[in-house]
Amino acid sequence: MLRTTNESVTAKTVNFSGKSAGRTTSAAWLKTRPNGSSQRGFDKALRTVAVLQTTLELEQLAKLFSREVGASVPHSSINYRNDQPEIDLTVGRTAKHTCTFRLIVEKQNLGQVTFTRGKAFTEKESAMLEFLLSSLAYPLRNALQYENAFQASLTDPLTGIYNRTAMEAALRREISLAHRHRTPLSLIIMDIDRLKQVNDKYGHVAGDQLIKAVVDAVCGSLRQTDLVSRYGGDEFTILLNNTARRGAAVLAENIREKIQSVACQFEDKTINVTASMGVASLTGRDKHTGLFARADQALYDAKRQGRNCIKVAGATK
Ligand code: GH3
Ligand code: MG
Repeated sequence: MLRTTNESVTAKTVNFSGKSAGRTTSAAWLKTRPNGSSQRGFDKALRTVAVLQTTLELEQLAKLFSREVGASVPHSSINYRNDQPEIDLTVGRTAKHTCTFRLIVEKQNLGQVTFTRGKAFTEKESAMLEFLLSSLAYPLRNALQYENAFQASLTDPLTGIYNRTAMEAALRREISLAHRHRTPLSLIIMDIDRLKQVNDKYGHVAGDQLIKAVVDAVCGSLRQTDLVSRYGGDEFTILLNNTARRGAAVLAENIREKIQSVACQFEDKTINVTASMGVASLTGRDKHTGLFARADQALYDAKRQGRNCIKVAGATK
């Protein structure tokens, strides 16, 4: 335990493991409750398990857990952090005294839970929190598995960027926000030039590597708020909120240049690559299909014009 003069900081690692007829359950772990914990405390933990098993959503889980624990150990906030998947969520208002538990369930690191409040946590309370965390362990593990599966359903496995499903949801959401707040929104659709030739000449693995190199180049040119996704095959979309046509055209040109300078090393060869892009911006009447269709038409024009160039829908020249 670490202590400072102004605030108390408690940090512990807790290991959970329990098996019951081949299935691991929180209740099974609870059978190993510490000596001295009362029947009431044990019943409370069992009730908490039942409540926590009603959700797979991490934020809801944290809220339920905070509510259940609050009756025994009052606190101002609970923060939950994890690296894989990356999560950092807080329920309540953070205060200066902290009590942190790193959770390990059957050798799997489940991240850390930090309780805070304005008054230091006592040893007894810390032990109670540790005991009650046993009811969180398995519902948390299930929720993390769900979160991982959910993230995977929105991610392109080759490049790690968003996939078409995620992009379509984002496009609908951003269009509705842009209309509501009257802010500009632009879309770039990009297609790698002559990727099939690369596959034919160097093989599919080289083509995959080239796709990844192109995505790295694109991602290196974007702001944090820009949303890049692999729409399918060698086609990508870049959604630019708060960006009008002119800004989107400048960005598309920067990306095009960046891709042109990619020198992808495959075995002992250097493979160069270019891409073509269509740019379109939201108009007052646009729905997602209209914006997408105009960017797609502009891409088609760029390909027809000889590739390695950008075309802007509705531009006068
Ligand atoms: P264009 O300049 O007209 O775009 O020519 P292209 O050869 O890139 O043809 P097009 O975009 O119509 O077709 C995409 C090609 O990209 C087809 C396929 O050979 C290749 N491709 C699509 N997805 C992948 C992938 O995941 N890996 C690899 N290696 N190649 C892919
Ligand atoms: Mg292509």
